[in-house]
Amino acid sequence: MGRAGFVAGNWKMHGSLVRNQELLDAVVSGTRSLQNVSCVVCVPYPYIAQTQSVLEGSHVLWGGQNVSQYHHGAYTGEVSADMLADLGCQYVIVGHSERRTLFGEGNQVVAEKFRAAQECSITPILCVGETLAQRESDETEQVIAMQLDAVIDLAGIEALGQSVIAYEPVWAIGTGKTATPQQAQDVHKFIRSRIAVHSGGIAENIQILYGGSVKADNARELFTMPDIDGGLIGGASLIAVEFISICLAAQN
Ligand code: PEP
Repeated sequence: MGRAGFVAGNWKMHGSLVRNQELLDAVVSGTRSLQNVSCVVCVPYPYIAQTQSVLEGSHVLWGGQNVSQYHHGAYTGEVSADMLADLGCQYVIVGHSERRTLFGEGNQVVAEKFRAAQECSITPILCVGETLAQRESDETEQVIAMQLDAVIDLAGIEALGQSVIAYEPVWAIGTGKTATPQQAQDVHKFIRSRIAVHSGGIAENIQILYGGSVKADNARELFTMPDIDGGLIGGASLIAVEFISICLAAQN
């Protein structure tokens, strides 16, 4: 059996109580017919409780966009995986490039966050990807290998198998520049080959999403590539019709 589809929206630092309610209601009703695709929204921390109360009992799942590597203690401003679990989050994004570049999160910290999420039964959506400079100097595979290896070294290959990976070329995020389906496919295939060194079964079964300026009009072409199982969607996840149509495009 092939891998199921998966689409996660990353709202980033957007939203308000009124807008969220409209967006969530529209997403629930517009994706009701979805078959074999998980639909997830990753919302800002203050809106997780609202999201839980709107989505509870529906087919749409929710998660956070970041998590502390610590479980509790004197870490002002941090939010733990235990807290996300308390609010029904089943997923959390870790290692988003905005966290890596703007907030200095390195591979080791990302791996610790990954582990902390799983310790609370939350599935990490692990983001990996290269900058434009790294792509142009032919370092894409090396960079992604290091990002994956940090998690495998800390948490183990079985743990990686219990996650979702998102390949997000940094140069394509929020820029309107999408990787071509073939560029994305090549990296997704590389990611599977790197995982296959440890376990062929995990490499075959793990869901790998593409992220970077996915829109309703380019999603289907990307998702038909053999190693692309869905998308991590930023800007377009804030527009109900766009997000719904991207979710529908992920159906096999
Ligand atoms: C993202 O935030 O993960 C992302 C892919 O953003 P966008 O779709 O806006 O490029």
